[in-house]
Amino acid sequence: MKHLLRPLLISLVSGSTLLLALTARAETTAFVNVSVLPMDRDTVLTEQTVLVTGDRITAVGSRETVAVPDGARKIDGKGKFLMPGLGEMHGHNPAVGSSEAYVENIYFLFLSNGVTTVRSMLGWPGQLELRDKVNRSQILGPTLYLAGPSFAGNTVPSPAAAEARVREQKREGWDLLKVHPGLKRDTFDAMARTADELGIRFAGHIPIDVGLVHAIEKGQETVDHLDGYIEFLQAADGPIDPKKLNEIVRLTRETNTWVIPTMVLWETIIGSASLDEMMRFPELQYMPRSQVEQWKASYERRITHANYKKSTAMTTAENRKILLKALHEGGAKIIFGTDAPQQFSVPGFSIHREIESMASAGMSPFAILQTATRNVGEYLKSRDTFGLVAPGHRADLLLLQGNPLSDLNELSKRSGVMVRGQWIPESEIQAGLARIAAESKN
Ligand SMILES: [Zn+2]
Repeated sequence: MKHLLRPLLISLVSGSTLLLALTARAETTAFVNVSVLPMDRDTVLTEQTVLVTGDRITAVGSRETVAVPDGARKIDGKGKFLMPGLGEMHGHNPAVGSSEAYVENIYFLFLSNGVTTVRSMLGWPGQLELRDKVNRSQILGPTLYLAGPSFAGNTVPSPAAAEARVREQKREGWDLLKVHPGLKRDTFDAMARTADELGIRFAGHIPIDVGLVHAIEKGQETVDHLDGYIEFLQAADGPIDPKKLNEIVRLTRETNTWVIPTMVLWETIIGSASLDEMMRFPELQYMPRSQVEQWKASYERRITHANYKKSTAMTTAENRKILLKALHEGGAKIIFGTDAPQQFSVPGFSIHREIESMASAGMSPFAILQTATRNVGEYLKSRDTFGLVAPGHRADLLLLQGNPLSDLNELSKRSGVMVRGQWIPESEIQAGLARIAAESKN
């Protein structure tokens, strides 16, 4: 109902009138008698009432302390668990030229698995308008934060070009700058200097000429894929030196650098994953056949390349797990990401595989879920308040049939997802997934 009415309102009114119209008709939803995972601490609050009005959580408390207003829509939470929606902090918008229907399907796949926030890590023209439409709920999708067009060796050949590009992207309104491989150190430094001056952050890969230590000392905000760590540790092919590991964990913590591991995606990139296993992923049914064929072909190309060595790939993958565990235990800041949609990482569904990989590296369910909830909110706290089940937070919620702190598999047994206050019951999710699967057969 809500999402049918909104476009109508938007076409009738504009500007501040629109805001008033949306606020005036904001309705209240009450989750009653539900167990809450607030996610700022490792606990479950039982028999809670959670109120949502508009796009905000307005109250969380026991039945005695929180009254359900007359006319509120009630969602029965008996035996169920309510947690914050999840963040995909290295995601992507579909490629330039994708149809509107395909873009909306990708957004739906994210939401269907409880991913309510996406930091999209490669900008192209048109995305800013798309972001604004989604974030105003004119299009159903996760709240988007966008990196601009890439800073790479081939797109940014000189310090002067870097400076001009930072100014341009700041002016255009991108949320952050995306660093790609190939940047020369002086060009990187010019980008970092201009970014500092203008108050925009940069994040992403670690160019080889720059190196991990220099990048984080210059204030790179996130190191995605744990890029640069294995090179720093010289551990692609052999054991990790514990002294070097301590050194880089300490530097990561002290510089307040966020890392986004993307463990599973990287196993696909380095070629330690099993193609047969990946081709059997049930979620591939939601991607166009041509896309899956492309992913398969590029994986085959990688593992038949002259430089490919299976033993190196396997050692690197194992060392990345040791590294992740050390970063976690050493107090470094970790946020969740899977690089979807990309290389067998299907939007939304990829979170379950990444969570399993983080667990196998030795992180607890609570620690893993924090990387996708509370930590995401902390990382983006200058933009909005979200990531906890607490009053004032954006109403991004995931209602589950069991407690994911006891068993992470419970994350895929949903009762529904709420994004910016809009409730999507599991029946709608299943209907949407069936439609997408049918469309993807072509
Ligand atoms: Zn990416």
